[in-house]
Amino acid sequence: MRPIEQQMQLFWLNWGMECVDLCILGAGPAGLSAALKAADLGKSVVLVEEHKLGGYGLRRGALSSKTWWELAKQYHEAKQTAFQLDVSLPAPSLSLFRANVDKSMKAIEAQWEKVIRKINSEGKGSIQVMQGRGRLLGTGSVEVSNPKGTVCIEAANVLLATGSRPRCIPEIPCDGAFIHNSDSIENLQLLPKTLVIFGAGIVGCEYATIFGLLGQTQVTLVEKGSRILPFEDEDLSAEVTRQFESIGIRILTHAQPDWAHVVDGMVNFQISFQGSTPWTGQADMALLALGKVPNTEDVGIGTCDVACSPRGHVICLGSETRTNVPGIHAAGDLTADLALVNIAEMEGRHAVESMFGSGMPPLSYEDISTIMFLHPEVAGVGLNEQEAQKKQVPYRCVKLNYAGISRAVAMQKTSGFMKILACPETDKILGMRAVGEHASSLVQTIALMIKQNLPFSALKDVAHPHPSVVEGLQTCARVLNGEWVRSSEEVSRKEWRP
Ligand SMILES: Cc1cc2nc3c(=O)[nH]c(=O)nc-3n(C[C@H](O)[C@H](O)[C@H](O)COP(=O)(O)OP(=O)(O)OC[C@H]3O[C@@H](n4cnc5c(N)ncnc54)[C@H](O)[C@@H]3O)c2cc1C
Repeated sequence: MRPIEQQMQLFWLNWGMECVDLCILGAGPAGLSAALKAADLGKSVVLVEEHKLGGYGLRRGALSSKTWWELAKQYHEAKQTAFQLDVSLPAPSLSLFRANVDKSMKAIEAQWEKVIRKINSEGKGSIQVMQGRGRLLGTGSVEVSNPKGTVCIEAANVLLATGSRPRCIPEIPCDGAFIHNSDSIENLQLLPKTLVIFGAGIVGCEYATIFGLLGQTQVTLVEKGSRILPFEDEDLSAEVTRQFESIGIRILTHAQPDWAHVVDGMVNFQISFQGSTPWTGQADMALLALGKVPNTEDVGIGTCDVACSPRGHVICLGSETRTNVPGIHAAGDLTADLALVNIAEMEGRHAVESMFGSGMPPLSYEDISTIMFLHPEVAGVGLNEQEAQKKQVPYRCVKLNYAGISRAVAMQKTSGFMKILACPETDKILGMRAVGEHASSLVQTIALMIKQNLPFSALKDVAHPHPSVVEGLQTCARVLNGEWVRSSEEVSRKEWRP
């Protein structure tokens, strides 16, 4: 079998001017899931990718950082066990870690290559991968350039799936050696003794966790708002703060980074605190984690008058993937602020179904599950309290501390909580948040219940495995139903109305 690179080369040589059903710009999660869906429907696809298959879903993003997180967590746990056994553990080997991260990425990349080869050999639909930079020339027309030359693709439909990249600011120029963003931080050869992270959103907190758990680096997390993870409720942010501090992560809030630059192999930086004089500091390394910007420049969006927001995101019509230009759809990070693999994939599939199918229901973001890979895990689906209040949605909320969950007691990991929000008048579940060990095991149940419009009372009589963290959901449902539970001391309830 030929490697995908050879296939791409051959395709480049053989390309004529036939018109395909769909041309996709970008083979990240959005583009790849769209290509698969189109092949399911028997369509011909050209998938244009500037670099490698997978985008940030694989490299310098979701999969690579999660492999780092798993390894860091295992190392931290091994260190705790070694301490209990009075034995010592060597310092973590970055080259070994990098080799494992590489292995994860190669495994998933190989799966993508195999499925594409299989689709093409079966001949129902087809996916031709073309390596190069794609650019819209007009409706239904895309130019692809690479060092071998330029070709033009004619397509009945075009999907823009060019994703996003880390946001840069001139005051803190990334050099990939001392001042990093998420694109370069995983290439480290040595663990720094001190690391300052600017931005305490998901990416900043995930890398703080990784370096904190590896235990060789003094991490300082700098956040301009009043708390880390400002989009989550205060109690959740406070729990993560407490647990971050327990592994030595220092958190500075109300702290605006003014500048950072490299002097004699060290990062010098200045931070302004509200109402007090600026503070200058020094660290071996810095990580800039100020969010992402959409890749919408230089893809010919202006040529076709595709409407974009002032921040550069492609604007889709209603809860759809259609743009203002007929025949041009957009999916994934380039469309909105919520940048997640599961959303990119959902939008990619939806785009194809609405191009070739009929009567598609609008996209729904209500039951999107999220996990943040922190110390400890944070998981959620649907509304949290601050979102419900902002939307003026009344709710009942029940919150159960991990100390009331048998499995957490068995694991001796009783820090954390879960909470469910439900409509006061009906049984409808509005959302769930959990912070603690195995938190990610909880979201699927609630996501499915929200999707299927099931009442929370449906949870009460399911025989969950024991002992498990998921039993906590059942406890919450019983409390919402006004029943006594063993762990009543660990439960609190409240109701909020606009
Ligand atoms: C450090 C980090 C950790 C993350 N962790 C998670 C996580 O745990 N869970 C989660 O759900 N999400 C996570 N994300 C977010 C997730 O990676 C993105 O939301 C997702 O990859 C977006 O998919 P996409 O297809 O829209 O874009 P991308 O993944 O950005 O892919 C776009 C592709 O388009 C290509 N491209 C761009 N321009 C062109 C062009 N003109 N021509 C041809 N090709 C082009 C790019 O090379 C790229 O391959 C993380 C992101 C980062 C940075």
